[in-house]
Amino acid sequence: MIRQNPGGGWLEVICGPMFSGKSEEMIRRLRRAEIAGQRVVIFKPRIDDRYDSADIVSHAGARMPGVAVANVSELAARAQGFDVVGIDEVQFFPAEIVAAALALADARIRVVAAGLDRDFRRLPFGPMPELLAHAELVDKLQAVCHRCGGPATTTQRLVDGHPAPYSGETIVVGANEQYEARCRDCHEAGEGLTSLALSRPSGD
Ligand code: ADP
Ligand code: MG
Ligand code: ZN
Repeated sequence: MIRQNPGGGWLEVICGPMFSGKSEEMIRRLRRAEIAGQRVVIFKPRIDDRYDSADIVSHAGARMPGVAVANVSELAARAQGFDVVGIDEVQFFPAEIVAAALALADARIRVVAAGLDRDFRRLPFGPMPELLAHAELVDKLQAVCHRCGGPATTTQRLVDGHPAPYSGETIVVGANEQYEARCRDCHEAGEGLTSLALSRPSGD
């Protein structure tokens, strides 16, 4: 895949479940931009401290220096002066990230945003629907289902080996829990789920 933005800004979104290679793909694209002599930076929300406080690290160990930001305004301020701005784990940012990403793209910056399109309940995750709608380019990656080896499109959260209850917090960093990539057939709904169609909060 060749990604170029001759002279103009735009928004690219890389999405998919956990382990689908979003961070790897982000690193690959930004390395290429660096090779092309562009000024490149990757941000991530400070909430994600699984591996390192600042570096972008993939599950397979690929790594690129990153900048952890506390909020969207810090990201917008620190993005100035770059040609390419990566945002990893973008699903954790609040709704304001959408306007900020579009403002950067309008300012002729290439914005590459990577994040989970859906949470462990399989519901759209935070700002992702809006980002996906606005993006010029979208890639939806698949992982390998931990159960059957097929293409995995969902993220399964397990607590003590059992599907996490539907009422659980969406974001739990550092808790005693485990995540697996699962296909539609192998995904197990947690206790409390009645219907995906009925479960979205109104007005969302
Ligand atoms: P993401 O950012 O989408 O969570 P990463 O880029 O961090 O994904 O990690 C992708 C890498 O994870 C793969 O290249 C592979 O080496 C490893 N991996 C581990 N488990 C799986 C899985 N179930 N499916 C696909 N890749 C996996
Ligand atoms: Mg990642
Ligand atoms: Zn499966």
